[in-house]
Amino acid sequence: METDEKKLITGGEFLVKKTEPTDVFIPEEFDEEQCMIGATCVDFLRTEVFPILDRIDAQEEGLMKSLLQKAGELGLLGITIPEEYEGFGQSFITTMYASEFLGAGYSFAVAFSCHTGIGTLPILYYGNEEQRSRYVPKLATGELIGAYCLTEPGAGSDANSGKTRAVLSEDGKHYILNGQKMWITNGGFADVMTVFAKIDNDRVLSAFIVERDFEGITFNPEEKKMGIKGSSTRQIFFNDVKVPVENMLGKRGEGFRIALNILHMGRIKLGANVIGSAKMAINQSVQYANERKQFNCLISQFGAIKYKLAEQVIRTFATESSVYRASQALDDAIGLYVSKGDDKGRNTMEAFNHFAVEAAAMKVFGSESLDYVVDEAVQIHGGMGFSAELNVDRGYRDSRINRIFEGTNEINRLLLVDNILKKGAKGVLPIMSEAEKAFDEVKSGTVPSVPEDYFGEKETYVDNFKKVVLMLIKAVSEKFNRTLVTEQEILTNISDCIIQLYAAESVVLRVKKMEPLRGEAYSKPFRDMADVFVYDVAARIAKYAKDTTYSFAYGEVRDLLEEGISRYTTVAGVNVKEARRRIADRLIEENKYCF
Ligand SMILES: Cc1cc2nc3c(=O)[nH]c(=O)nc-3n(C[C@H](O)[C@H](O)[C@H](O)COP(=O)(O)OP(=O)(O)OC[C@H]3O[C@@H](n4cnc5c(N)ncnc54)[C@H](O)[C@@H]3O)c2cc1C
Repeated sequence: METDEKKLITGGEFLVKKTEPTDVFIPEEFDEEQCMIGATCVDFLRTEVFPILDRIDAQEEGLMKSLLQKAGELGLLGITIPEEYEGFGQSFITTMYASEFLGAGYSFAVAFSCHTGIGTLPILYYGNEEQRSRYVPKLATGELIGAYCLTEPGAGSDANSGKTRAVLSEDGKHYILNGQKMWITNGGFADVMTVFAKIDNDRVLSAFIVERDFEGITFNPEEKKMGIKGSSTRQIFFNDVKVPVENMLGKRGEGFRIALNILHMGRIKLGANVIGSAKMAINQSVQYANERKQFNCLISQFGAIKYKLAEQVIRTFATESSVYRASQALDDAIGLYVSKGDDKGRNTMEAFNHFAVEAAAMKVFGSESLDYVVDEAVQIHGGMGFSAELNVDRGYRDSRINRIFEGTNEINRLLLVDNILKKGAKGVLPIMSEAEKAFDEVKSGTVPSVPEDYFGEKETYVDNFKKVVLMLIKAVSEKFNRTLVTEQEILTNISDCIIQLYAAESVVLRVKKMEPLRGEAYSKPFRDMADVFVYDVAARIAKYAKDTTYSFAYGEVRDLLEEGISRYTTVAGVNVKEARRRIADRLIEENKYCF
């Protein structure tokens, strides 16, 4: 894929620009080496994790740490870390691919993700050479385990409001750290923590590398949780902890930026994790449905069950298509930013910052798709889904956290649309001029024709969804101006439209790119998925857009919006029953996720 500046995709650009299949990566393009890494991850879970899930959930002393260390021995902790720090220097998309497979590992997946992501990357990307060479090689091999300490009892979503303080010691050699952190993943055994605190009376956070052995650190017992019970979650107290001045990460006051950029990365990685969990739940669902008989019939033959199986597949396929599309765009951006400057770490993080919209979208869409998938997995299992005998209940409980951590889905929805608005206001994206065109089109009364060819039709629908969003953004910006920030219901609706259309476009692009690679016969169920998903997205966008319109618009603006919504969310009818049945039948025949 070309990575020259001209072709490079900017975060959020999908809203105002047509994307071609050649511009995107699809999972069908993973190469042999990447597949081998994926196979190693699967093997690791099968041999090391799945046989001892109950022991992991019981938090057997030392078990999770030893599993992470074993993963380190296999090189799984260092996939993304440069070779000079004992890693394998693989691309971001390869890390995402590994995260997908390991995402099926229940609590282990959380510990792994935390260590390799928010636990390691602040030091890799923001550390100076001395800090990197001291910590990163050991984090890459599992000799050290990492954690990330941002949240406090009084500072959750409002992360910058933390009370943890750092004061320079009289001899100028240490920062004296005092405060309390909460919900810290890997807190029970992490050796190195990135701790965010304010120096003196600073308004913004700074970041520090804190070692577990520093004097003055104490830990509460493990939190008792609804799910991911095997993952360690602790409160941590810092009482006059002496942190050497050379352990400050980045510059004074740079901590909040570090925290946010690392979270952008964590969010998109969460999108990969949930794909693995979803495929696992689908496999459990179809295998059970292919064994369980009621009314002298396998339950997999019932239309109501086929609906659920197909819908599980469609939402997972949409997540996968979106996540890898965004990951490749990010990889290309990382390549460009890194080649431009001398600070590789910061430049990498700049790329993540540019893709905050996609990262938030993947976090929200992925976590909510997974919630649907695991919920229906329980339902397909009936009473056995509610039993603790199979792992279906574990998948259900473990899924729920994904909507809460790495920024709640509410915060991510707001952040997404805020980011789009800012890019529009700064002229980075031509939001208002494109919105004006959409309004003009509606005013002119001309209805652009929909091409008859399959992909032309789908692409036109997606372009039309964008017009709805652009019109809404322009109308609400003009109506509310500076007070728009207080209209959270409206912002959330617009965010949902954007998330849905990104997923719909990603599905269409993937199927279009896949067909010449795999042949039309192979691609048939994929067209079914595109048909059902785009049809459903049209209805969802129509609902969100109407809710928005009736929440604020009157007179001519309301008339134009109503007309635009009606025109641009109308799609041809789809026999969704038959399409879903064909998707389910392929799944039932293969008895495993095969898409
Ligand atoms: C198992 C687990 C592991 C975690 N691991 C870590 C970790 O390793 N490191 C770390 O630093 N943190 C971690 N966290 C913390 C996590 O990131 C926070 O729980 C999360 O950011 C939400 O903060 P909160 O719990 O204080 O909820 P609150 O911020 O109190 O939110 C409560 C509700 O209000 C909503 N809300 C809040 N503000 C707004 C607003 N402005 N507009 C609209 N709605 C709003 C939220 O969306 C939510 O629905 C973890 C949490 C859990 C449960």
